[in-house]
Amino acid sequence: MQYSVSFPTADVRYIFDIPFTDICGQINLEETIIITDEHVASLYEQQFAGFKRVIAIPPGEGHKNLARLGFIAEALLEAEAHRRTFILAVGGGVVTDVAGFVASTYMRGLSFAFVPTTLLGMVDAAIGGKNGVNYGLQKNLLGTIQQPEFIFYNISFLNTLPQWEWSNGFAEIIKYACLFDTALLEELEQHDLQHYINNSAALMALIQKCAGWKNKIVQEDEKETGSRKLLNFGHTAGHAIETVYELSHGQAVGLGMIIACMLSVEHSGLDSSFIQRLLQLLQRYALPFEKVVDPVQLIDVLKMDKKRNVETIDFILLSDIGQPLIQPLTLTTIHQALETFSHASHH
Ligand code: ADP
Ligand code: ZN
Repeated sequence: MQYSVSFPTADVRYIFDIPFTDICGQINLEETIIITDEHVASLYEQQFAGFKRVIAIPPGEGHKNLARLGFIAEALLEAEAHRRTFILAVGGGVVTDVAGFVASTYMRGLSFAFVPTTLLGMVDAAIGGKNGVNYGLQKNLLGTIQQPEFIFYNISFLNTLPQWEWSNGFAEIIKYACLFDTALLEELEQHDLQHYINNSAALMALIQKCAGWKNKIVQEDEKETGSRKLLNFGHTAGHAIETVYELSHGQAVGLGMIIACMLSVEHSGLDSSFIQRLLQLLQRYALPFEKVVDPVQLIDVLKMDKKRNVETIDFILLSDIGQPLIQPLTLTTIHQALETFSHASHH
């Protein structure tokens, strides 16, 4: 299956469910450089035969930095990459973020495409054109918005995914359900992680539904001046938690969604019974639902958030399931919520 999605700056083809070798028929392998990470490269070595070059970066969020861009630029120069070289990024969110940035800036921009190999990549990171690297404590401080030519989905890549990486993807899936889709939330409550791992038809439908939500929002607001901000639900507190503690993105976002919902009960009329539902849902998908945190440390990170105004930080809250809103909250209010969250986690 294939369809095209029109964003304000470009059209992107979504290609589903054909073997990886078949996309090789759609591009000139001798002019295509693969950017991936060392882990994915070792798992899928045979698939990468015939390409002009394979550039593999070390895996992990810790390598999503400026130094890595320099390393890739060197490797591209060495491979004599020129304006007509095509970049195919194959990997998780780190690979597509870094490769998208390199591809959109090397010689002022090469054509590129994504093959997400993680669930998180398939439902979120590979979609929407945002790319970039972290700097200091700031996530994605440096980056651009540039759409890939196509995104290629093949869920057989997920067969090698460790369980915690599945959970990472489910944090974003739960996010879409809370923000936009009561029916999806109910579906997720009826199943669990293992159901989707074992049931590729259900998984494929789920991925397409979530990709659809993300596409719809990015079509409306590619440059994030309005509704795209809603996708930051769970991410404001989540990014701070991810920065301070040794947690994966999905684990931190799960906790961030709890904090956003606690604030929503206080400030936007969310029914308090939803907190319990969310905790149970996170548990179903093997995500943590409590954590003793240091509010002072988290506030220090939040103070430097891109979404900060003079006195407040824009939080995404819910007034109900499927009813998100953007609400500026003072640091004092956020501090209190972090105290309450931490206290509830401390039995
Ligand atoms: P994301 O941001 O999408 O969660 P990352 O790019 O940080 O993903 O990758 C997370 C980890 O998963 C990395 O160690 C990466 O090498 C690994 N990984 C990516 N794709 C696969 C796959 N299909 N099978 C096994 N491991 C993978
Ligand atoms: Zn996220």
